[in-house]
Order: sequence, then structure tokens, then C-alpha cells
Amino acid sequence: MKERYKKDLSKYEGLRYWNKKTLTEYIREWADKYGDRTAVIADDDELTYSEVDSLSDERAFGLSKLGLKKGDTAAIQLPNSAEYVITLFALYKLGVKPVLVLPAHREAELASIMETAAPKAYIIPVKYMGYEYLPLARKLKSAHSCLEYIIVDGDITDGDDSVIQIKDVTAESGELPELDPYDTLHYLLSGGSTGVPKLIARTHSDYMYLCKLCCDRCELTSDDVYLVALPCEHNFPTGDPGFLGVMDVGGTAVFCGHISPDEVLDMITEYEVTVTALVPTMVSMCIDMLEIDDDFDISSLRILQVGGSVFDDSAAERAINAFSDTVIMQVFGTSEGLIITTLLSDSRETIKKYQGKALPDQFIGEECEATEIRIVDSEDNDVADGEYGEVLCKGPYIIDEYYGLGDADLSSFTADGFYRTGDKAMRTPDGYYKFVGRIKEQINRAGEKIMPAELEEHLCMYERVQDAAVIGVPDPEMGNKIYAFIVSEDNNEVTMEEVFDHLTKKGVARYKFPDRCITLDALPLTAVGKKDGKKLLEIAGNEDRTNAD
Ligand code: AMP
Repeated sequence: MKERYKKDLSKYEGLRYWNKKTLTEYIREWADKYGDRTAVIADDDELTYSEVDSLSDERAFGLSKLGLKKGDTAAIQLPNSAEYVITLFALYKLGVKPVLVLPAHREAELASIMETAAPKAYIIPVKYMGYEYLPLARKLKSAHSCLEYIIVDGDITDGDDSVIQIKDVTAESGELPELDPYDTLHYLLSGGSTGVPKLIARTHSDYMYLCKLCCDRCELTSDDVYLVALPCEHNFPTGDPGFLGVMDVGGTAVFCGHISPDEVLDMITEYEVTVTALVPTMVSMCIDMLEIDDDFDISSLRILQVGGSVFDDSAAERAINAFSDTVIMQVFGTSEGLIITTLLSDSRETIKKYQGKALPDQFIGEECEATEIRIVDSEDNDVADGEYGEVLCKGPYIIDEYYGLGDADLSSFTADGFYRTGDKAMRTPDGYYKFVGRIKEQINRAGEKIMPAELEEHLCMYERVQDAAVIGVPDPEMGNKIYAFIVSEDNNEVTMEEVFDHLTKKGVARYKFPDRCITLDALPLTAVGKKDGKKLLEIAGNEDRTNAD
């Protein structure tokens, strides 16, 4: 049998910014270079670079005393906070690989992470956005023997000694292991097709390589103040350039604890934020807010990065006009690696129409491989400039496999190692990309990704559901709304309330819940017996029209 393609990281060693350096070394260097400068601001906490370094050392020693060691995995699901940075950096330094779990993930997603990543520790807040995480953690611990420690940020009142408080996980001294920069830094999560979030292993070297390219694109300096205005476990605010990027240049990372348009605008005003990253839906909500409230001062904002889902021309134009002193930077990004952005020097017309250009690799050595991006038709033949096709990519910061799936992920890669993004785009002769949606089935609702098959599977587990089909219906605010079509066991309607109740019991993340449920006698099928997406879209349109009348 032919061996599957595997990246040879030594082939990137002739690239500028490709450093054989671990995050521990970066964090130390930042502390040496920027010592007393403010690194992190979050709620009531303000930490200098030296403090971030020493506090994360102490947390690493504490974690080590507890029993965590190099090679272990830990799931971290903390909200945007200073504790997140300290704990994340502690895990990095200890060589314990963090799985970056989104605050919205619930039992369904966590159970599959337990299976694939086998984390030894689960690090959570007591409560965030009204949700209590401890009951979930206890349930996971009793079902998954890998999970030894539940570590919480916040006060526990019920005297449960199987739960450890994060503030107690600290020690003054200890030892840190030698780490390999080509080893996994962290696991990012990608929406899976059957309820299994796929794990994306990124190495120290590749993650910081891309982060530095993004810093260049944003011309970040130590004067910059970056606002983390998306959940911090997302790739976008972490490394594109994100808080790691702004720390690499000696600037300040501000963490927005409760993400809402007024909070985001408040923090931009208060901390004179210069760069932030939002999804299109949030941009539009911020503009609505700015239109009714003139208390905000956003004049410090140099760059507003917008990405995560399609930012259509009219939404982009509205943003360009509303943020008139700010450069809008469109960003097409994937946790799997590929990043494309517009340039600071691009015209308004270009920013409106395109997601931008690839990040250029710079060569300082010979025998070096660079990033390759192809746009192909359904037979994997390259299409001409200006024609649409699927984007494939390969290179220093792009993964060549999903973690822990064996060969079950082969359909996501070509035999010669290109990652199939599943995204549809075209490239202009001068290298600008325009993305128009998905080729692979996936719903993008306000930047969150939902695989129809996963939700269908959950719906079919409800006793009153005989069959279900889920589609994304285009929506000007959300990008897509989730419509669920249900055939019931008894021919009576299955209500939204029942569906919500069922999905809540199953522990499905709230962002995957349908916006509409429509009960049908039977699902429309194509000639080959597949669920007919086009027909379902038509039914959705008819239903919406009937409801509007
Ligand atoms: P994630 O790995 O969760 O960051 O999601 C990556 C996916 O988000 C991509 O494969 C695209 O489907 C989608 N995406 C990200 N940025 C954009 C964008 N600017 N325009 C359209 N789709 C986007």
C-alpha cells in the first residue's frame, strides 16, 4: 500500500520566520525584551510581560505537582480572561497539549473530544453566560477514565474535593521539560461530520510562523493594542495575528470577557484599541449600535479584521463607510492553516470585493518548500484565473492530517498532501481571492460551523422523529440560518420547543440549534435517492413567504 503523504518540516527551515523555537522560548524572550510593558488586560487584571512569564511558570509547576506531565493532553474551556493566558502558557511550557474547546461546546462535543484526545485534565469556569460547567465535568469524569482532574476558575461552594480550584494550582519552584518545536503546541477544533469535532494539531514552529506573517500583514508594532473580541479558543483571535501576534511585537492584548457589541465598542473606547477581529454578524451589530449611540470613540481603531464567514459586498461596503477612519481587513481563515487577507494598502473597491491575497513566504535559504494554493474542478484539475472551484492548499502552516483519525480523514487531503478546504473561490490574475461559500456540506451561521449530518443524527435520536434533513438557508444577517425538516413518527408536527428540549438534553452546543423546524410528510429525494437540497430550499422559501403574509 502507498504511504500517505507526510510533511517534512525540515523543508521549511530556509524560510524567514520559520524558527525552531518553542513557545516557552518565545514567552521568555518576550519577558526579556518587553519586561514591564503591559502584556494582558482582562477585567480587573493587568499583567506585564514579566508577570505573564512568572505566573505561567508557577502555574506550570503547580500543574506538574498535580501530576500533569509532558505528552499529556488537557481540555481548556475558559472564557476570555487573564487566567486563560496564564494557564494556556503554563500548559505550553509543560508540554501538556491543550485542546482549545469553545465555551459553547457541550456534552456531545466534549464526549467525542474525550474519546479522541483523552485529556487528563478539564479546565473550566464555574459558570459562564448562565451555564454551569461543573455538572457536565462530573458527568464526563465518571464516563471517561482518562479524565483525572477537573480544574475550575471560580469559587466552589459544595466542598467537592475531586474538583481543584485554579488559583490553588501554583508552586514557587519546579522543573520544565525540554520541548521539541516540531511537536504539537495545541489542538484546534474543526466541525466534524458526525458529531465528532476534528482535532487540528498545530506545532510550535508552524503556528508562530503564520502568526508572524499575519503581524507583518497588519504592520503590528509595540504601540498596538489588540482586542480579543471572539472566544479566545478560536484560531482567529489567537494567531492571525491575535493575542500571540501582538505579544510577539510587545504590544498589549485586551480580553473582552462578555462578548456583545456594546462591550466590544466600550473596550475599544476605553483601551484605545488599535486592532481587533470580528465575524461579519458582529460587525453589523456594532454598526447598528454606533448608529444609535454616540458615546463610543473608535478613532483609535487602525484595523478591523473581518472573517470567519462570507462578508458579502454590501455588508463590506456598510462597514467601510461606518468605520471610516479604520482599514477593514477581510480575512479568510481556517484553523487547518490557510489564511488569506486584504492588504492595508488595498482600495475600498478591492476590500469590498475580495478576501485578499495569500501571505507571502520569504526565502532566506535554499531547498525550501513554500505555500501552494490551487483552485480545482471536481476532477482536481486546476481551473483558469477567474473561474470558481475548490481551494486546495499545502505548505508550512497547513496540516497534512487530522489528529487521531487514522485514515478516516483521507478524503480531506489529496494523495500529494493538499488539504481540501471545501471552500469555493476564484483567483484573479493578480492573486486576489474571492470566496463565495462551501463546496462541502457545511453551514456557516455567523461564523460558527455546523455539519448538517451531525445535527440530523441528533434529531433522529428523538423518539418522535422518523427522518430529518438540515440545510443552511441564506440570511443577510447571519450568513446562513439553520432549517431542520422533520418527518415525524405519528404525522403530527414536531415543535421547536420539543426539538430544543431534546437537543439540550443531548448536550448539543446551542449554536447548532435550528432557527426553524418544518414538519413534512416525507423528505424530497433526488433521482438517486439523496435528500434534495434544492427542493428543501424551495420549501423553506415558500414557508417563509407564507409566514410573512
Ligand atoms: P474555522 O476552521 O472554524 O476557522 O473555519 C474555517 C472555515 O470558515 C473556512 O473553511 C470557511 O468555510 C469559513 N470562512 C472563514 N473565513 C471566511 C471568509 N472570510 N469568507 C468565507 N468563508 C470563510
